[in-house]
Amino acid sequence: MTSDNGTDNGTLDGKVALVTGGSRGIGATTAVRLARAGADVAVTYVNGKEAASDVVRAVEALGRRGVALRADSADAGEAAEAVARTASALGGLDVLVNNAGVGVIGPLATLSTEDVDRVLAVNVRGVFLASQAAAALMPEGGRIITIGSCMAQRVPGPGGTLYTMSKSALIGLTKALARELGARGITANIVHPGPIDTDMNPADGPYGPDQAALTALGRFGTVEEVASTVVHLAGASYVTGAEFSVDGGHAA
Ligand code: NDP
Repeated sequence: MTSDNGTDNGTLDGKVALVTGGSRGIGATTAVRLARAGADVAVTYVNGKEAASDVVRAVEALGRRGVALRADSADAGEAAEAVARTASALGGLDVLVNNAGVGVIGPLATLSTEDVDRVLAVNVRGVFLASQAAAALMPEGGRIITIGSCMAQRVPGPGGTLYTMSKSALIGLTKALARELGARGITANIVHPGPIDTDMNPADGPYGPDQAALTALGRFGTVEEVASTVVHLAGASYVTGAEFSVDGGHAA
């Protein structure tokens, strides 16, 4: 296991990674950590062009190649094409990190059909299509790592129907991908973050203290703490179809 402050240098030398939603938050830090481990890295973004460029610069400062791709995971074509564009720009694809996601939390009665379509398009269909495209071109040793959520393991209160449904689907996808791709030496795993301090879920937001209290450790996690597990899985050869809680004990 790597440490949380980056002792993974060289474990991914010669590999190419794609991190969806890599302009901010967990995805941005994961992209840089993959580069520190030796990978060339592409990131997708929608609105954060400048932020994605900053991530590319950080990747390049580590001596790796970086590419920022505008690709909306909600668009079926763009979700799959991001994989092909990565392979074209960086010469293949070894590691796919399905990180892009949207969180729509609210009372069941307030969630619209548009909310359902949007969340499923980004959190589920986009992940499926990117994984499908990646599997078609990954060599032996390929890795598909999907970011789920602690909400797929334990729903601590009301408001999570849609988001939890979307993230739970990814558990099934991950297990089925592991079975489908195992014969080719390609692994698929899912990482469930607990409350992580990002733009999506700021620790100092109105629900921050309540979320921290739901964990055994009594605090939010950091993006580094999630990224270190993703980098570990990118280098792990005998782990597949597995769920990893990086949640401070939220599920305990
Ligand atoms: P942030 O909101 O901080 O960052 C989201 C990233 O995803 C941004 O880079 C954003 O790009 C990108 N993104 C958003 N929508 C799309 C889209 N349609 N297509 C492509 N990229 C998109 O989120 P986090 O880092 O907090 O979350 C990352 C993942 O972790 C998500 O899947 C989330 O569900 C999951 N998660 C987060 C938790 C938390 O507490 N933070 C807890 C459990 C799971 P841009 O800026 O360009 O829009």
